[in-house]
Amino acid sequence: MPSEFELIARYFTRPTTHTLLGAGDDGAIVRPSPGMELVISTDMLVAGKHFLADADPEALGWKSLAVNISDLAAMGAQPRWALLAASLPEADEAWIAAYARGFFDCASAFGVDLVGGDTTRGPMNFCVSIFGEVCPGRALLRSGATAGDEIWVSGAPGRAGLALAHLQGQCVLGEPALGECLEALHRPQPRLALGLALAGLASAAIDVSDGLLADLGHVLDRSGVAATIYADRLPEAAARACPGDPVLARQCLLAGGDDYELVFTAPPSRHHAIMDLAATLGLALTCIGSISDKRSGEVTLMDAEHKSLPVSRRGFDHFA
Ligand code: ADP
Ligand code: MG
Repeated sequence: MPSEFELIARYFTRPTTHTLLGAGDDGAIVRPSPGMELVISTDMLVAGKHFLADADPEALGWKSLAVNISDLAAMGAQPRWALLAASLPEADEAWIAAYARGFFDCASAFGVDLVGGDTTRGPMNFCVSIFGEVCPGRALLRSGATAGDEIWVSGAPGRAGLALAHLQGQCVLGEPALGECLEALHRPQPRLALGLALAGLASAAIDVSDGLLADLGHVLDRSGVAATIYADRLPEAAARACPGDPVLARQCLLAGGDDYELVFTAPPSRHHAIMDLAATLGLALTCIGSISDKRSGEVTLMDAEHKSLPVSRRGFDHFA
């Protein structure tokens, strides 16, 4: 295996586009845009916990940065710089090269400069830190939802969970759904354009990493409100992808992780602006419910006859 410094020079050093001093010194130097606030976040991917040891390295490289960009999207912030701390066993160079390719693909797609990091030998583990910018006071927080707000979700939540269920033998997906679900699991698309556009529209936002209900629950807790979700308004993509098992499809939609869609709230006066935004972005935005004035943090799931269905943050109770 090449030395730590050869690895860094060969695979983790690329020209930067908006950085005063990138990797190679004891620290990087960046100049935030005048008057902007910095939004900072970090996420760790651990072998055996967040990915399997035989995971495709290129997809893993993409995903390790994409999940961080997703956090900034959920804040309404423009990602600008990233750090990568990598712990690698005696992995082969082809593996590291593929990982770096995926990482830099994602970096160029979203305008992020990799400005430094750390490389050590050890159990496989990738920790990315990200720095982005937002106009003062415009960041989207989890705490901003108020009674009467509508609840929206982007894209087709549930697909990553369905892909995992397929890989674990719990269901059999057919094409083209299988390909779309695997893509959602392995190469999640952070909803950055959406997050940036929502900075003037939404009252609260979060990205779905743990499951729609679980992550909506964080918004409810931080905002001190409760929610009603209408089952017949939920996006249909998951059910269409898995026609043989509608219960599993619903479970993946409500409680499957790893989707990196955005769940957000906005006052009803913004409804048409959000529908227009969906058309502009070419991205489905679905109004799935509303915030109530109860302070309990609870989610009530209603069927088409407006009867409440049993639900917990992990999904339907009979799965709990
Ligand atoms: P130090 O010992 O001063 O911490 P290192 O030898 O760890 O320096 O790193 C040398 C340079 O390479 C630093 O600029 C660091 O930011 C960069 N670097 C190390 N690992 C990575 C990585 N995985 N990706 C990008 N840059 C890295
Ligand atoms: Mg170091």
